[in-house]
Amino acid sequence: MGNSIDLTATISAAIQNFNNKIGTVLHLKSIFFDMDGVLFDSMPYHAKSWIQAFAEHGLELPEYEPFMNEGSTAYYTIDKMFAKYKQTKLSDAEAETIKVRKHEIMQSMPQSEIMEHMPMLVEQIGKQNIDCWVVTGSAQAALYNRLEAAYNGSFKREKMITAHDVTHGKPHPEPYLKAIEKSGYGTAEAIVIENAPLGVESAKAAGLFTIAVNTGPINLDVLKKAGADLVVNSTFELLEYWPLIFSLLS
Ligand code: CA
Repeated sequence: MGNSIDLTATISAAIQNFNNKIGTVLHLKSIFFDMDGVLFDSMPYHAKSWIQAFAEHGLELPEYEPFMNEGSTAYYTIDKMFAKYKQTKLSDAEAETIKVRKHEIMQSMPQSEIMEHMPMLVEQIGKQNIDCWVVTGSAQAALYNRLEAAYNGSFKREKMITAHDVTHGKPHPEPYLKAIEKSGYGTAEAIVIENAPLGVESAKAAGLFTIAVNTGPINLDVLKKAGADLVVNSTFELLEYWPLIFSLLS
């Protein structure tokens, strides 16, 4: 995005388009945050874990694939990658072995850092009386337990939709539909902050206004193609643009 006039016009147009689609005016009351790659800088470790687990099972995974598949369930990723690179389908038991191994490697990685600039953004959002929810495909209880402390209590365990709450992971809309159901905020009240194409697809399929923040090595166009209403280059940009986005959504 360019200068401030262009920026205001770009954001206003995105909101207007969305309002036209839902046939009402979006008034922001809640944000559904994705966790990995948005609140925690955990993706580099997930990527390394996937690459090693696949390598141990004879599949040399290109480095960008974990980022492209991010947000989905382990089984979805395993099935998709074996179909794509080996033209095979593993048995449930084989897929389970890889899933367990990936989890095991991930556990041996260093603790993920808190995503740069996000604590400051979440603090601002808290002062704006916006209700913060988390919608994650992660099954890592250690990480969501850490969220409460890492973000000074802005995220509460009872306001998280995790891998344990859904049958279908992202890109299926179920995780975000569950968030709508559990939080009580509809598509005219809640927006999503996501970093991954499959996460954006999930949020859009649930009918939600979605901001994609690029925090990994993928091309911005991939996030646009996935259907994001707004795409920003970094968490720094998101923090910088937030006051404007907030004012246009209030
Ligand atoms: Ca993510």
